[in-house]
Amino acid sequence: MQRDILIIGCGIFGSAIAWSLGRRGLGQRVLIVDRQPAASAATSRAAGLVTQVRTDPALQALAGETLAAIELLKTHFGEDVGCHHVGALHIGPQAQQAALAHMLAVCTAAGIRGQWLDKAQVLAQSPWLAPEAFDVATYFPDECFVDPYLLSSAYLRGAQQMGAQLRLDTRVAHIQHHAGAVTGIALEDGSVVPASTVINAAGAWSNLLSVPLGLPLPMAPVRSQYWITERSPELTCGGPIVFMTDIRAYARPEVGALLFGARESTPAVAHPHELPENLQGFVFDRADPDGWSNLAQAFEPLCRYFPALDRLGIAHYITGPSNYTPDGQPIVGTSPNISGLLVASGCNGSGITYSAGVGRLIAELVCGDVPFVDASRLDPARALQIDPFDPAFLQTCAHARATKSTG
Ligand SMILES: Cc1cc2nc3c(=O)[nH]c(=O)nc-3n(C[C@H](O)[C@H](O)[C@H](O)COP(=O)(O)OP(=O)(O)OC[C@H]3O[C@@H](n4cnc5c(N)ncnc54)[C@H](O)[C@@H]3O)c2cc1C
Repeated sequence: MQRDILIIGCGIFGSAIAWSLGRRGLGQRVLIVDRQPAASAATSRAAGLVTQVRTDPALQALAGETLAAIELLKTHFGEDVGCHHVGALHIGPQAQQAALAHMLAVCTAAGIRGQWLDKAQVLAQSPWLAPEAFDVATYFPDECFVDPYLLSSAYLRGAQQMGAQLRLDTRVAHIQHHAGAVTGIALEDGSVVPASTVINAAGAWSNLLSVPLGLPLPMAPVRSQYWITERSPELTCGGPIVFMTDIRAYARPEVGALLFGARESTPAVAHPHELPENLQGFVFDRADPDGWSNLAQAFEPLCRYFPALDRLGIAHYITGPSNYTPDGQPIVGTSPNISGLLVASGCNGSGITYSAGVGRLIAELVCGDVPFVDASRLDPARALQIDPFDPAFLQTCAHARATKSTG
């Protein structure tokens, strides 16, 4: 059978889309192409948090799909995606009480389990926290973290079992169209793969394929980063993910150590043309290649919550691009002027969380079904006037990361 649904990019979005298409009986029509090994770009670098606790109902729904998919992959397909059902704490000083109460009310109204905890209950779960650093805490038991590479691989294997085909070492030069409809993709080796549906899931490189089609995507690849401490006996306790809301930082257990990240006031951002095909060794900011100046900025506030950080060394630093949009919404939907062209990008640092939701939404759009979420705010054509390569626009996207809340 002719494979007429092409997915460009085998990161977690491409894999989840293929899986969702397979579950709708379209697997035999799907071809995924990538120039690099599957899940080797942003996906394998993620911290793996899957967090449904958000105020936006559409984003809650996308995340909820992923939590359901993780369960389904485990129970029906026997897939271990490294899921740790540890729950998440949101903590802060008294001044955060109203914000925490609002989030708790919105989430419980949406059916997400959550509750207040007192200080003793928090410290029993996370003894590494300094008691004097926070006054109020909410706890959401269904939040988790996964191994993002395993989750992406599980979607992909499921898709392949349902008939999808994967072609690696395959570089897409551009997307072809004629008379207002997609006709296929042109590869860098000069060959053409015909198709009636093309899904641009090329991650940080999506705009390089989209802009020539008159569809600038309102996003830019901003540096995301986290650090992992040395192992320490006081961290073998495990415990939940902890969001320190006033300092926009988070931490989670990681094999006897603590993995943590903090929002920078001025994140580094890359021009999409400068991002290499292989991210290994890529440096966002030559003046601060390892994010030390960002860590220095966050260090004192982090030590208030986690005093042992002052003593412990940093064992690992992980960085990579996340596509931030000025409005904080992902970019998922159809092209307004080229039929058969769809986009799944603009993850805002939450692509693992949104993965199965994005997969389902794209599959519904391909099938012409009514979307399960109100996708109007995710429209790829919502900012056709912007130039996503303009340095000022790149800075706007960096600012979106700097001001993003932890929830
Ligand atoms: C440090 C860090 C921490 C993060 N932590 C979290 C987290 O805790 N929770 C969370 O939900 N999200 C997190 N994220 C975000 C998450 O990693 C991304 O949202 C997600 O991986 C994006 O997936 P993707 O499929 O869109 O992109 P990618 O994984 O980058 O995949 C895109 C693919 O497209 C391919 N491609 C591009 N152009 C072409 C072309 N022309 N031809 C062929 N192939 C092409 C690339 O080779 C690549 O494999 C984090 C990100 C980073 C960097």
